[in-house]
Amino acid sequence: MVLDKRAVRGFASRMDWDLTSFFPAVVSAEFRDFREALERQAGALRPRVEALALDPAADVDVWVRLLLDLEDFRARLSHLGAYLSCLTAADTADEAATTEESAFSALRADAETIGEGLVAALRRVSADRLDALLGDKRLEGAEFYVCEAKRLSAHRMDLPREALSAALSVNGTKAWNQLYSRLSGDLTFAVPSADGTVERVPMARRANLLASPDRAVREAAFTGGNEAWAGYESVCERALNAIAGARLTLDRERGVEHFLDNACRGARLRRETLDAMFTAINDAAPALRALGAYRAQLLGEPHVSYRDLAAPAFIEPENEPPLEWDAGCRLVGDAFASAYPALGAFFRESLEARWYDHSPRRNKRPGGFCTTSRFNGESRVYMSYEADLGSVLTLAHEVGHAWHSRLLREVRPFASGYPMTLAESASTFAEMILVEGVLESDAFSADRKLALLDTDLRRAVIFTLELPVRFYFEKRFYEDRRKGFVPARRLRELMVAEQKRSFGDVLGEDGADPLFWASKQHFYADAVMFYNFPYTFGYLLSQSLFARFREEGSSFLGEYERFLAHSGQMNCEDLVRGTLGEAIDEPAFWSRALRPLEELRGRLAAFSTRCAG
Ligand SMILES: [Zn+2]
Repeated sequence: MVLDKRAVRGFASRMDWDLTSFFPAVVSAEFRDFREALERQAGALRPRVEALALDPAADVDVWVRLLLDLEDFRARLSHLGAYLSCLTAADTADEAATTEESAFSALRADAETIGEGLVAALRRVSADRLDALLGDKRLEGAEFYVCEAKRLSAHRMDLPREALSAALSVNGTKAWNQLYSRLSGDLTFAVPSADGTVERVPMARRANLLASPDRAVREAAFTGGNEAWAGYESVCERALNAIAGARLTLDRERGVEHFLDNACRGARLRRETLDAMFTAINDAAPALRALGAYRAQLLGEPHVSYRDLAAPAFIEPENEPPLEWDAGCRLVGDAFASAYPALGAFFRESLEARWYDHSPRRNKRPGGFCTTSRFNGESRVYMSYEADLGSVLTLAHEVGHAWHSRLLREVRPFASGYPMTLAESASTFAEMILVEGVLESDAFSADRKLALLDTDLRRAVIFTLELPVRFYFEKRFYEDRRKGFVPARRLRELMVAEQKRSFGDVLGEDGADPLFWASKQHFYADAVMFYNFPYTFGYLLSQSLFARFREEGSSFLGEYERFLAHSGQMNCEDLVRGTLGEAIDEPAFWSRALRPLEELRGRLAAFSTRCAG
């Protein structure tokens, strides 16, 4: 039973964090006044943006004042959003917060409309006016933001048609996405339980069961889950084709040349860079596949199988002493303090300021996150701390995010928004510091350390072999979709072909997952496409950052901090070149980033013999 630990440890009754520097309470005059002011601000911004869209030749001062007000509006919106996301996650039964959240959604929709209006206005602004605008001192540091919006505007339709498209998406792509979510929420499958009976479990539990150390449980989750999806294959096929079809139609109307251009723009990188990364992964395929094969061997399997990708080869033994919250914080604090004192000091201060909600409680949403207000510059970390090493890793990860936000506090809100490709750099870096700290410490058993290294190995396989499968599948699917409807049979075919191509001969005869396209929710997202390569990009970039840190020691940290602090005001190529002096549009960069992974096997093997001896 997964819940045992909680039952023994009991539930806390109150939230741990202090949110009073945001608002005294959600039901308070301060909160209401803030929200009402924001609503008035949105109401005033909208006609101003629309006026500019009609008359982009307006005075530079009109432009600048609008942009400054918009920036302030966005910062305040993030303040309200961060506060509400904390409250609703920490207590799903908080009715006042839930009610306020729907008012907030309306505000966010307003913000989107205003943003769309700005893009429409920029679309028609002359080059001279734009230059004058960018030269205004009040917008210093916001140049990238304005130019990016201007570039984006080249691939938008005019405002009325964009508005119509947004309205139609409610019954179009969004509706298909909801149908898919509803279906995956309704689906169940059979799993044999320990007493010999068969239990039906919801699809939402499948991912957890696929990560079970018990082979029979994994097999049941894999086969049972796929049988359930196979029964609704035609629904998934329709949904996927409809979402992609609508997207391609819009691309055509917006003058987007290739579907990957959109994804790359969102990730702030060039197609050449993406190609460079995948070229390096391809070149390293034999070594990466050997990692997959090694993991299969650790699991006692002859070949790699999609059944086992999430399975742990080593698990933290049951009888390990629990790492209570205070001990976990000490562990993270010590690792940070010795490797990266500034991060250690930041962590200590944030603990003193009570930025963390960690105790498992009823009515808490699962998962963990770090959220930041661009208005007061403060972050909050949310998680359910379970007194094991996995929870300590999550803590280090989220502190990494908070540190990234702390460094961005030095720049204006318009310069603080970073793409998904750069979102996990600081969190993964912080995790790596912790892992090194644990491996070097005498306070942990060999089994615990092996479990930690195994997590690293598992992630290496997922990020470098499995995520590329998703990317290439999606790419080939869109290529086909441009020509017409893509039937389920073809989707299965593409899926298996890409799995075989990536894993090569280490994938077992029945190791592929032909229905992965149906079961993976990311393919059905209505807002983003290619929700895959940014993960691999971010993961490998972190590997490269940490390798530099290992090599150069603390003298690298200045460059690292410049990199994080500028992550919201450059594209990825310029950022890495300008702050780290490296060229990510060349495969050589990615080959170097992959090198530490190739050493993982040796590290784990050496470690297990050392532990045995
Ligand atoms: Zn993260």
